[in-house]
Amino acid sequence: MADINKQIHLVSRPEGEAMAANFRLVEAPIIEPADGQVLIRNHFLSLDPYMRGRMNDVKSYAQPQPLGQVMQGGTAGEVVASKSERFKVGDTVVAFGGWQQYALVDGNAVGTLRKVDTTHVPLSAYLGAVGMPGVTAWYGLMKICQPKAGGTIVVSAASGAVGSVVGQLAKTRGCRAVGIAGGAEKCAYVTGELGFDACVDYKAHRDANSLYQALKAATPDGVDGCFENVGGAVMDATMARMNAFGRIALCGMISGYDGAPIPLLQPSLLLQSRLTLEGFIVSEHMEVWPEALKELGGLVATGKLKYRESVAQGIEAAPEAFLGLLKGRNFGKQLVKLN
Ligand code: NDP
Repeated sequence: MADINKQIHLVSRPEGEAMAANFRLVEAPIIEPADGQVLIRNHFLSLDPYMRGRMNDVKSYAQPQPLGQVMQGGTAGEVVASKSERFKVGDTVVAFGGWQQYALVDGNAVGTLRKVDTTHVPLSAYLGAVGMPGVTAWYGLMKICQPKAGGTIVVSAASGAVGSVVGQLAKTRGCRAVGIAGGAEKCAYVTGELGFDACVDYKAHRDANSLYQALKAATPDGVDGCFENVGGAVMDATMARMNAFGRIALCGMISGYDGAPIPLLQPSLLLQSRLTLEGFIVSEHMEVWPEALKELGGLVATGKLKYRESVAQGIEAAPEAFLGLLKGRNFGKQLVKLN
């Protein structure tokens, strides 16, 4: 085992766009576990859009990321030393270990530290389709959109970690699944590999009417469920296609994460079409995680749920990979592979 733990700290808060200068590579000693703790060697870091929000010091559903400390985030790895009765050396685990090579965590951390079985599901998938993004897709689709066979579900950021699962789950419920994604290559993947019925390339439709017409062609029977990951123009287009009593799961608004306002063009549609719009945070619905993970794990293990990963190599690559994710340069789940 190495004796240096490379970490990425947040050292300043962004003004507008996040920059590489907001982060610093720091070398720290590896600390042996005290009673009740486990030391984990991280194999994968999960990079997620929510981290951008936590870089700001503003009131939100979660505490801001503290300055001068390891960037917080989900990790997948292996226990290398344990003073917890619950874990032994060699266990594969997902944890909230942060952007560092080794994480010292409390063995009793409920909800954030769990053993995972890599016999049929690869370790990295526990940060994506069989992890937080997968459960996010499952919750927003099943509990908020409430898909019915024959209905149409539209999801934005469709090739991403969350969106790719939403459309595939919608298909298992007998729905028409329509994605919105940036670029011909992502759209070809969404329909060709993931099996969505259609995908609209929003980058090929820069004005609102053109985007609306493309979505109209892809949703001939209107839209019953909108799983919104982006906000702005794509959300406006989807709302304009919604059927009466349609349901919107407001999962993310990544187009505004740098702080630009993202107004809703036609809020009157909520009334006219009697829509239900519900925002949600997946970590506030721990009660569904076992059921969701069971279904998602089964689908991945049997090859019925497909996913893609963008994998950056080495801890030093984490900040740039994260900034790329915020620009849509990822293709599927964005990870960093360590060692
Ligand atoms: P993705 O893997 O989907 O990556 C983000 C994608 O967003 C990009 O690849 C890009 O795809 C797309 N995108 C669209 N518009 C923009 C824009 N203006 N700027 C940058 N990217 C854009 O990420 P996740 O699947 O992890 O997350 C998807 C959404 O779900 C995010 O909004 C996230 O915050 C949210 N989320 C919410 C949770 C909750 O509990 N509510 C939990 C987890 C995630 P493209 O090239 O197609 O545009």
